[in-house]
Amino acid sequence: MPSSNAYDWIDQALTTIHKAKWYRQATTFEGAPGATIQQDGRSLLNFASNDYLGLAADPRLADAAIAAIQAHGTGSTGSRLLSGDRPIHRQLERAIADLKQTDDAIVFSSGYLANIGTLAAIVGSRDLVLGDRYNHSCLRLGVAAAGATLMDYEHADPIDLACLLDQHRAKFRRLVIATDSVFSMDGDLCPLPQILELAELYDGMVLVDEAHGTGVLGDRGAGGVEHLGCGDRTLIQMGTLSKALGSLGGYVAGSATLIDFLRNRAPSWIYTTALSPADTGAALAAIEIVRTEPERRAKLRENVDYVRTAIAQLTASVPDRFRLLPSDSPILCLEVSDAATVLRDGQALRDRGIFVSAVRPPTVPTSRLRLTVMATHQRSQLDQLITALEEIAIH
Ligand SMILES: *Cc1c(COP(=O)(O)O)cnc(C)c1O
Repeated sequence: MPSSNAYDWIDQALTTIHKAKWYRQATTFEGAPGATIQQDGRSLLNFASNDYLGLAADPRLADAAIAAIQAHGTGSTGSRLLSGDRPIHRQLERAIADLKQTDDAIVFSSGYLANIGTLAAIVGSRDLVLGDRYNHSCLRLGVAAAGATLMDYEHADPIDLACLLDQHRAKFRRLVIATDSVFSMDGDLCPLPQILELAELYDGMVLVDEAHGTGVLGDRGAGGVEHLGCGDRTLIQMGTLSKALGSLGGYVAGSATLIDFLRNRAPSWIYTTALSPADTGAALAAIEIVRTEPERRAKLRENVDYVRTAIAQLTASVPDRFRLLPSDSPILCLEVSDAATVLRDGQALRDRGIFVSAVRPPTVPTSRLRLTVMATHQRSQLDQLITALEEIAIH
């Protein structure tokens, strides 16, 4: 047998990734998640977490997860439609529907799988999906999995969206306009009222990804849809249990017929093992906290406003060094000139005991420091971040 060279391209591809400074690897943190995290025995201030409300280390979630394991075991042992369905799955779905004020909801094993399964179910080869250029990767992959046609419109630009609709809508059967509510790598919000208006005009559905909105935005914490005053409109709301809710899993909330249809047609729900009892129990406890402790959201907003104001002042004094991207969420991004700079800045902050994400292409179009604020950050910790940013800005 000749030895195969069929895998040699992988080594070459990795070399290319290194050369472009696109190479990435995981950083390991020890201990519990929170406003501070431990790495190599050292404590860092954490400005890179999606745990906006600080629930991932809340003992009430841990207790609920342990109780769920004791009642139902560590694994769900089967798919929901076969042997994996437990009472807490429906309890969680009812709690999500109640939070989102929709007829019903369905939980998936991750947000990623929720988007893929939903798109695979609702569109096919004769259909068109128009997506914001900055949408999350799973919306793109979902359209590809569905075999539908994907077209990107310019970021948060209803005029470009209207233009594409005018040019292309008539050639397709169904239409979905898909958008993040909070853009994960920018922190700004989608123009949902205009999108809904266009969807109605062009006979289309709207799929909104509330991964970073759930538990964070809106008076009740229902998300960006509530915050933008669109809670009473017909649309498909997807989200994750893995960010502000401190657990793992994804959901779709909407009309009873939509959810019933997804239970029959979403492949990433039908053919995968039901969400684990621990994740389900923890998410249920988190939703209860979101419902009953609005002060966490208020504290988060206060922290975000404090940091955003200070950073806006800083960037105004060094406009060639940092640009603060527009944001209406706990995600704040400082755009810098290139990938090498963002890596250096990320390291300089790390040297000062502060952990933020240095995000580069191809994840985002331009390199940036991406920082996320939590409800559980203390004022002194926010001040440390601001001081460190001031220091690195002049180096
Ligand atoms: C994180 C994220 C997802 C995926 O959710 P997971 O539960 O982590 O799989 C989907 N969409 C957006 C916008 C996200 O930020």
